[in-house]
Formats: sequence, structure tokens, C-alpha cells
Amino acid sequence: MPARCLVRGSINVDEFFQGLRGPVQRFTDLVIIVKEIARPGETISAENLVKRPGGKGANQAGALARAGVAVDFVGAIGQDGLWVRDELKETGVDVESMSVVEENTGRAIIQVNEIGENSIILYKGANYVSIPSHTIHPDTTHAVFQNEIPLSSTIEYLTQASSSQISTIFNPSPMPTPEELKTFPWHQLTWLVVNSGEALALCKALGLEVPDPSTSASAVDVAKPLLSRLSSGMPTTNVVCTLGADGVLAQFTLFNSKSEPVYLPAAKLQGTTRDTTGAGDCFTGYMVAGLMRLEGKEVTTADYVAVLKRAVQAAGMCVEKRGALASIPLAREVEARLN
Ligand code: ADP
Repeated sequence: MPARCLVRGSINVDEFFQGLRGPVQRFTDLVIIVKEIARPGETISAENLVKRPGGKGANQAGALARAGVAVDFVGAIGQDGLWVRDELKETGVDVESMSVVEENTGRAIIQVNEIGENSIILYKGANYVSIPSHTIHPDTTHAVFQNEIPLSSTIEYLTQASSSQISTIFNPSPMPTPEELKTFPWHQLTWLVVNSGEALALCKALGLEVPDPSTSASAVDVAKPLLSRLSSGMPTTNVVCTLGADGVLAQFTLFNSKSEPVYLPAAKLQGTTRDTTGAGDCFTGYMVAGLMRLEGKEVTTADYVAVLKRAVQAAGMCVEKRGALASIPLAREVEARLN
């Protein structure tokens, strides 16, 4: 059965300022840490400016393509972002449905200091321009959303997908406002992917009571009750909570209302963590690619666990390398590590 994924989301030019008073390289080849982030009234000089493709929508679409599945990206750029579209196309994403609008391409302007703190200005640009609605490709089986475009557009595509029996996946990052979260059509969602901070904010916004964690609780113990509250609040949605270096927790409520949460530790790294940028997007892209491969088959919990294992492995490989889109591994590289 052919499976195809739609990603309706953001695409940015990420701009990194390099070099200030003895630059130190860290995180990516492209980011050189500045000594101090500019303060109000201060002018600092950078020795270099590097641009690369970014945006959660583009990163997740790139991860799906690298994982080897068919993916359409619907998003908008300005004339200044044609090269970003070309780079996304090179990863294997179908960019035919992208719009070129009369606004500058979205931008993330990033400074990183020596102790890893960053300061990011996100310019929404073309991501927030209203673009014509596209007919969803008839082979589409999955649709993926984040929150770097107008929520109204996300909901429009989500509703269209859900009414066409397409599996829907939402990674609400950055978090919508509590008001938006309260009115979001959660019943149309098949999979929710959040990190633990997002899980907590979501529980609070939806009025789901969460116990105060003990100070000695592990990341997994803190996340378990959040997952359980979210699952009971969203009985028709499977919930996946990523825990950074602590791995991932998932509850497949939609398939088994009494299911216990499944925990998978993070992948064993070869070497050290070099750059966690895009790890969450890599995880989501690989997870959805895995779900697409199960399409039309009779599936057990073990199959879903295997999908998550592959996604965890891919995300681990992503943090071993510098860059976001550039560090997402190919399916065969992930396979080689799993075997
Ligand atoms: P987000 O960036 O969306 O907050 P996380 O930080 O939770 O996402 O990371 C997503 C996934 O990436 C994790 O579940 C884990 O599998 C992997 N990951 C992230 N950081 C590390 C790390 N330091 N070591 C190994 N795996 C990691």
C-alpha cells in the first residue's frame, strides 16, 4: 500500500553570528560561540555570518525523506529563500506545493555564548503569510504539524486530514497559548509528540491536575504522571513524550485503552553529544516514517515499540553530529547501527 506524508509547517533561514573576541567553536561547524550575548544598548561585532536551512516543518520533512518515505511539504518562503527550498528538495522532499510570497523568508537569528546559552530572535516572515489551501495528495496516509505557522492553518489541514481518515501527528512546539490549547480539536489527533516541558504546560492549560514531583524524582518518574494525565484527557490520541538524553515514554491509548506507558532509553552514542539541535525533529520524522511502513498491516504494540526504537536511534545519531537538517542520518545508516 503506498504511504505518503504531508507536512504543513515552517521553513526558515537560520542565521548564526560568528566570532566575537576569540571565538570558540561548539555545537555545529556553523555556530561559533560569542563571548557574551549582546545586551540592550550594546553593539557587538561578529566576524562571520552563516546561513543554513531551518524551521521545524522543514527539519521534520527532511527527516521523513532521509528515512526513505514519500513526503510533501506545504509552506512558504520569499524570493530570498529559494536556496532553502532547493536544499530541502535535495533531501528528497517534494516541494512542488510550496508557495513563494511577497514577504521575506522566516528567520531565526541566533547568538550562542561560551556556556551554551543562546539568544534567538524568531522572525515569522513568510511562515505567517496566508497561502492558498492545497488539495491533499490522494495517496496521503499521514499528516504532520508543528506550531511555527498560524494555528488556524494547522487546524484547517488537520481537520481536512482527519476527515479523510489520514493519521495526524502534532508536535506543538513552540507551545500555543493556554487559550489556543483549550480550544484545539484534540479529538482529531492520532499522535501527540511533546517533550516533558511541553507535556507539563499542556496538562496545566487543559486543567489536568499534576502532582508535584519529588525533588529526587528521575526525568522518567516526573514524566509518567504527565503522560497518564494527557492520555486520560485525550482518549483517542497516542501520546509520546521525549526526554532528551533520558529517552522517550509513550502510551498507545488509542490502540489499547488500558495500555501501560512504554519506556525506551536514549540510544548509546558513539562519541559525545555534539549538538542537540533538531534531535526532536529527527525523532518525529523517523517515528512517522516508521508508522507509515506499518500502514495497512495488522499491528501489535511490539511493532510500535520497534518504530520508536528506530526513531530513538536516529535521534541519537543526530546529536552525535553538528547541524540540524545536515545531521539527520539516512535510513541505511540507522539500520546499520540497530543491527
Ligand atoms: P526536543 O528537542 O523536541 O525538546 P528532546 O530533547 O526530548 O526533544 O530530544 C528528542 C529525542 O532525541 C530524545 O527522545 C532522544 O531520543 C534524543 N536525544 C536528545 N538528546 C540526546 C542526547 N543527549 N543523547 C542521546 N539522545 C538524545
